[in-house]
Amino acid sequence: MAAYSVTLIPGDGIGPEVAEATRRVLDATGIEFTWEVRDAGIEAQERHGDVLPEETLASVRATKVGLKGPITTPIGGGFRSVNVGLRHALGLYANLRPGATIPGVQSTFSDIDLVVVRENMEDLYAGVEFDTGTADAAQVIATVNGLSTRQVPADAAVSIKMITPEGSRRIVRFAFEYARANGRRMVTAVHKANIMKFTDGLFLRVAQEVATEYPEIQFNDRIVDNMCMQLMQKPGEYDVLVMPNLYGDILSDLVAGMVGGLGVAPSGNIGPDAAVFEPIHGSAPSHAGKDEANPTAMILSGALMLRHLGEQAAAERVERAVKAVIAAGEQVTYDLRADRDPAKAAGTAAMTDAIIAQL
Ligand code: NAD
Repeated sequence: MAAYSVTLIPGDGIGPEVAEATRRVLDATGIEFTWEVRDAGIEAQERHGDVLPEETLASVRATKVGLKGPITTPIGGGFRSVNVGLRHALGLYANLRPGATIPGVQSTFSDIDLVVVRENMEDLYAGVEFDTGTADAAQVIATVNGLSTRQVPADAAVSIKMITPEGSRRIVRFAFEYARANGRRMVTAVHKANIMKFTDGLFLRVAQEVATEYPEIQFNDRIVDNMCMQLMQKPGEYDVLVMPNLYGDILSDLVAGMVGGLGVAPSGNIGPDAAVFEPIHGSAPSHAGKDEANPTAMILSGALMLRHLGEQAAAERVERAVKAVIAAGEQVTYDLRADRDPAKAAGTAAMTDAIIAQL
């Protein structure tokens, strides 16, 4: 079998250390990878004059698969956001955020096994905004006030919420296809269609239509505020949750918090032509270069990548190995210890060695 070409973007801060850990684990599965290491972030800015150089994008376009470390957002204006840039340049419309309890990771909840599928391109997040007091805002407000019985105050700042039939269809299909491919039993559409009858109403209607194409998978829907309460009270009743961008932004962090937070939460951004996998945590600059960052979130992002490549068995081996090391509680980084004592903790490299030994 030919090696998989993957674009590896180490990123900033702790990124290079957790990226190296992940590369070592993935190589140790025995699956062959050709790693195209490319820059993005602060060093890319220094070296190429751009936080997201064209050659990095070109590499992901060619390999179709990226594995990315966190990027420090440079302070000050004028910088492209690497994450938004990647998402839009590559059409990565689906954000996949599994949240499953890992025994040994401190958390208020146990036995959580949820998957949040967030639409990545539309909704209030599309960036169509008009600032208070501007001529453009005045023009938008005048137009809206001429068309709507509800009046927008003249000094309002305005953000446009946009939901399309096609955007809704592809994200809900993605959720059902994910459910089917991964043996999940149910998809829940999350919305606020009782209030936003047209935008969220459209999303819900499309979700109901798509659901009929997958009779073997249960379907229901929940209003987003009720969904939050139900997740706190009976999370075991839910499985795969699919929703528009803004609700997905919030609920995916809620679910990450339910399973122990930043250090262990993986994600994928997936489109028709490419996919980029990354931990949800940032570059944690204060821990950079000290061999103390937790590599779990990025290694589990690597496991998600393996699943995306169809290497389910290798993905399971990696996930099992990570869980075994965390459950044993010996070779784990400081943040996974109850005492959070760096002196007694394993470093990034030692934890990675322990994971490789369990593969
Ligand atoms: P952060 O996630 O980098 O760090 C928050 C705290 O969480 C850290 O101080 C650290 O104690 C802990 N932490 C996070 N990841 C850890 C790990 N793997 N191991 C051990 N401890 C870990 O968030 P921040 O401090 O708000 O952001 C730092 C930088 O990262 C900023 O420039 C921010 O813009 C950027 N950021 C990037 C991404 C991304 O590229 N996807 C995501 C979030 C933040």
